Amino acid sequence: MHEFGIARSILNRVIEQVKTSQCQSSKIGIRKIRLKVGDASGLEEESLRFCLEFCSQGSIAEGAIIDIERIPLRAHCQSCGAPVSSKDTQTRCEICGSGDIEIIAGDELFIDSIELE
Ligand SMILES: [Zn+2]
Repeated sequence: MHEFGIARSILNRVIEQVKTSQCQSSKIGIRKIRLKVGDASGLEEESLRFCLEFCSQGSIAEGAIIDIERIPLRAHCQSCGAPVSSKDTQTRCEICGSGDIEIIAGDELFIDSIELE
């Protein structure tokens, strides 16, 4: 599953970040992880959440609330400049039929914030 690899790398980054900022405290736990996920990232919110919960077992992120904020897709046609709103990145321009679609926003995935216990 695609989401598993992504969930692992997110968790590695989260844990790394927490450990470097909180190196003196031995008992740290993560209460909440807030992520921003673009609509065009191809990630299923529910399966990403499931994978994160699964992969965090036994780590300091176990039991953390996974808060996922969606970023709507914004794209336009490179040929005629028409806006394209479809979630499907394989889509073609409705105006000129070009498949040359540029995504401006909505294909990102990043850690917005981490809340500690
Ligand atoms: Zn077009």
